[in-house]
Amino acid sequence: MNQKLKLTFCGGAQSVTGSNYLLESGDTKILVDCGLFQGTKISEDKNDDSFPYDPASIDALFITHAHLDHIGRVPKLVRDGFRGKIFSTPPTRDLAELMLADSLGVMRKEARRSRKKDAIYSEDDIQRALGLWNPVDYHDGIPVADFNINFRDAGHVMGSAMVEIARGGKKILFTGDLGNPPNPLLRDTEKVTDADFLIIESTYGDREHEELNEANLKLERVIEDTMHSGGALMIPAFSLERTQKLLFQINDLVEHGRIPRAPIFLDSPLAIKATNVYKKYQRYYNENAKDIIRSGDALFQFPGLKMTLKTEESKAIKRAPFPKIIIAGSGMSNGGRIVHHELNYLPDPKSALLLMGYQAAGSLGRRLQERQKTVRIMGETVRVRARVENIRGYSAHPDMNDLFDFVHNTADTVKKVFVVQGEPKSSLFFTQRLRDYLGVDAAAPETGDNFELDI
Ligand SMILES: [Zn+2]
Repeated sequence: MNQKLKLTFCGGAQSVTGSNYLLESGDTKILVDCGLFQGTKISEDKNDDSFPYDPASIDALFITHAHLDHIGRVPKLVRDGFRGKIFSTPPTRDLAELMLADSLGVMRKEARRSRKKDAIYSEDDIQRALGLWNPVDYHDGIPVADFNINFRDAGHVMGSAMVEIARGGKKILFTGDLGNPPNPLLRDTEKVTDADFLIIESTYGDREHEELNEANLKLERVIEDTMHSGGALMIPAFSLERTQKLLFQINDLVEHGRIPRAPIFLDSPLAIKATNVYKKYQRYYNENAKDIIRSGDALFQFPGLKMTLKTEESKAIKRAPFPKIIIAGSGMSNGGRIVHHELNYLPDPKSALLLMGYQAAGSLGRRLQERQKTVRIMGETVRVRARVENIRGYSAHPDMNDLFDFVHNTADTVKKVFVVQGEPKSSLFFTQRLRDYLGVDAAAPETGDNFELDI
């Protein structure tokens, strides 16, 4: 006989970040994701708070994908007593190792700057977490108590998964973050038609995206413009997914002779390492990407591309002749190597800055997006004479229409939809749209809310 299942929203509720969901049935306790709360800082103060459950009592933790807002508190969970098993796909485990080590470095810097206590976990905590971590492929069922749990392809970033938890013929599905079709590299999000309960992201629950074709054309134009003016094109990029999509597209432009030859620097150790994980797991690519590789074109290797892992190599970019393209982190220019290039080239009217994603309020990226004429970088006042351009079509998330279609596919079976991982405006708008146009029972829970599910 089925016991009731209790679902508690411990994070990611009416907030994009901090994903953390608890399922309890009898003595069995399962977590889905354990992410950082993030704002302009990599780690917001509330990450220091203790978990609203005893980490030692948790049997298993399922990770949807390697973005920090889904994995960033895993080492802290271990520090606070968790000894259960962690499950994710193999690429997610590899990427998580990179992301956690990198974020520890940034957190330590932030702690020093604000003269606060140390980061929320240590190197040891990361290693202990990796010791509990089991890589499991898509559709390889994992039994936990009387549940059967499967990863399904979410198409968001390399290795990203939805978590499907089944018992007694009923299914609860956590989407994690979903993909933005068509993805040039990865497979599209798997279609789901049989969920009884759905916990769905809503990052862009109230917005439509620019088309991918439009984004590609804009990229080509911005590169050509900079080549002709003879400046530097700076692209602040997020290390995971955005960078690989960008490299894929530039590879296409170079291989087809659509842009003039010029040095292209990938100047981010994290992005270089993440790109290596993409290369390692080519079996997860879509057929289009596999065909290109079969035709003899290595996707992340083309004439002009230089990966600058070491600090000295990064510094030498300044001496490289114009024109040149520099891709560096962080994506919002709130740290990383990109700020050094911005200091050098923002005052140059021949140069350009290309923004490719969401820029949080308070970040340098946001001030540049707002076309401020002067900005402060590392204590210096910098006049912005370079052109500033925006591309929005490379988002890794679905827009409001794709999200709606995802729920539509399972509207016949779904008993309740919980809308999460969005700002309140976006979550509430999407929730209302599902109620109005699909007639499904939908809610946007708040942190701490819990529900009894009949499964
Ligand atoms: Zn994500």
